[in-house]
Amino acid sequence: NSFEALGLNEALLQAVSDLGFETPSEVQQKTIPILLEDDTDLVALAQTGTGKTAAFGFPLIQKIESESRTTQGVILSPTRELCLQITNEMQLYSKYVKGLNIVAIYGGASITEQAKQIKRGAQIIVATPGRMKDMIGRGLIDLSKIEYCILDEADEMLNMGFYEDIKDILSTTPEEKSTWLFSATMPKEVAVIAKKFMHQPKEVTV
Ligand code: AMP
Repeated sequence: NSFEALGLNEALLQAVSDLGFETPSEVQQKTIPILLEDDTDLVALAQTGTGKTAAFGFPLIQKIESESRTTQGVILSPTRELCLQITNEMQLYSKYVKGLNIVAIYGGASITEQAKQIKRGAQIIVATPGRMKDMIGRGLIDLSKIEYCILDEADEMLNMGFYEDIKDILSTTPEEKSTWLFSATMPKEVAVIAKKFMHQPKEVTV
């Protein structure tokens, strides 16, 4: 029942220690070994405040090739606030990973400035669906080589009417990728997404 036992690498263990995290939370215990072990799809039912950002963030950071500048992972999240919060947490988690750039993309801020950050090379992009779709449409973001797609607070994103945007974004990503869906609740609409866009996802409930 330790972060070491979950299979995290040295860089992440050092960050965990700096952050003062002592034991993995339940959702972290259940998801991290699954996500590190193989490239599977995953549906996780977990509320905010359970440590779910690290539950997907640690495995994602460990799996990304930071030597390559290609965008390899995308996290879609419902609001600008969440987007910034996830980006901030992920930057803390990855502080010992050299060369890893995590960029936040959201509406209501300068697209030019965000495009500049993407141009420098972002292995991980954390985005709200509307702005992400917009930037893909303008040729400013290319998701054709991603390996990991995380849908965070999927129920909220669907409540906010992002289904079409999510569908359009996913249609620009490779068929061969891992999709990790996190949601506090499992309404019919979320089940539909899981069925339509995921392949035999493993399931975790906390
Ligand atoms: P989240 O559910 O991802 O929004 O996380 C809620 C808060 O718990 C964040 O401030 C995290 O930094 C913190 N946190 C995440 N995992 C742990 C852990 N294993 N031990 C202590 N704090 C944690």
